[in-house]
Amino acid sequence: MHPTVPLLRFLGATETVTGSRFLVDTPRTRVLVECGLFQGLKALRLRNWEPFPVDPASIDAIVVSHAHVDHVGFAPGLVRLGFRGRIFATEGTASLCGIVLPDSGHLQEEAAAYANRKGYSKHAPALPLYTEEDAHRALDRFTRVPFGSPREAAPGVRVTLRPAGHILGSATVLVELDGPTRRTILFTGDLGRPTHPFLRPPAPLPEADMIVTESTYGDRRHEDAVSIQRFEEAIARTAARGGMVVIPCFAVDRTEVILLHLRRLIRAGRVPDLPVYVDSPLALSALDIYRDAIAKGDPEIRPEFKGDGDPFDPGQLKEARTAAESKAINEKRFPSVIISASGMATGGRVLHHLANRLPDHRNTIILAGFQAEGTRGRLLLDGARTIKMLGRYIPVRAEVVNVPAFSVHADREEILGWLRGAPREPGTAFVVHGEPAAAASLRDAIERDLGWAAAVPRYLEQVRLD
Ligand SMILES: [Zn+2]
Repeated sequence: MHPTVPLLRFLGATETVTGSRFLVDTPRTRVLVECGLFQGLKALRLRNWEPFPVDPASIDAIVVSHAHVDHVGFAPGLVRLGFRGRIFATEGTASLCGIVLPDSGHLQEEAAAYANRKGYSKHAPALPLYTEEDAHRALDRFTRVPFGSPREAAPGVRVTLRPAGHILGSATVLVELDGPTRRTILFTGDLGRPTHPFLRPPAPLPEADMIVTESTYGDRRHEDAVSIQRFEEAIARTAARGGMVVIPCFAVDRTEVILLHLRRLIRAGRVPDLPVYVDSPLALSALDIYRDAIAKGDPEIRPEFKGDGDPFDPGQLKEARTAAESKAINEKRFPSVIISASGMATGGRVLHHLANRLPDHRNTIILAGFQAEGTRGRLLLDGARTIKMLGRYIPVRAEVVNVPAFSVHADREEILGWLRGAPREPGTAFVVHGEPAAAASLRDAIERDLGWAAAVPRYLEQVRLD
């Protein structure tokens, strides 16, 4: 049933950083902006399994801002549930989804198989949320949209994607509704930083009646200089005591940013020239897509960014693609850096590196990104002395260092500075994609500093667009 007045419905990323899903629900059409997976706390992950709030077959189109799974990872799930429309995304996002979604499908199948082996599922047999094949069926539905060119996603609903400077292909999404209620809504997706080492800064925001903004770091400021110095010192100190550095890292973009920083520090002689292992098939595939974009002179890449040779090779880059190459790293005793996914240590190959390296005080774990509530990364950040992984309790004796400088999310001042550039005041700014304290803090700042009406929507809340 379509509503009698156009609505904006918040189906996810409300007071949490995952599960971005916003439905523009009009009397004639349904367009879903973002189609993310819920991650982190179990109560959130269970939402992936709840019946979708509207019949997926009734959704005309999906628009996604970028290729991170908390923004696009449920698209194969919706296809599995009957969605038959197009998925609009930029060229870079579609390319990255080509590796991210099948990988996610594979992980879902592995999780189901594991539950069946251990017999802990209530369902017999446990079914995956979706499969690698569903991911390929979702990929068949992608339509690539150039930056800055408006596209009719559904009758009377136009979308325009503009660079967001967060990861390759990332975009802000402007939705324009035609008809008796002409309305424009701007979704920030994840907003990047003006200081990204090789992506251009976010494009200025266009005029909009409503803004839906992320707030991951809505209550924080990135202290880059301090944080990069901490990174440098941690690596030098660990190498000096003969230890290994393990960096749990998001496969897409964060790996690239860290490799670039390591390359600069090693070339400047500020840290020793250590072997750097990238141990994640997904991160290595993403690295190839980034190398391609740079070689082709992609317009999102800063024109002044030219790497001589491979811009992502710090000197001794080692790519572990196979499981055997990954396991072989366990035997290494020479100080090295291991970069491996997943970024919040919720799964992936980084778990066996952590299980192997955490018990030795000479080693260091560097946390380089946002660590959501309920993840092992967050437990490490909060100083846990023992952590369960791979079915065992592991003592945490290694040093744990937090380096938020590698975040590719705008901080509080950067978000406010970008919003301040709005050509006119929006009716309301909705603050999403942040934990409760961060979202509330950004809402207060928008009200106080910008003088706009602002609100933190609740899960499944809906507001009228007319
Ligand atoms: Zn993102």
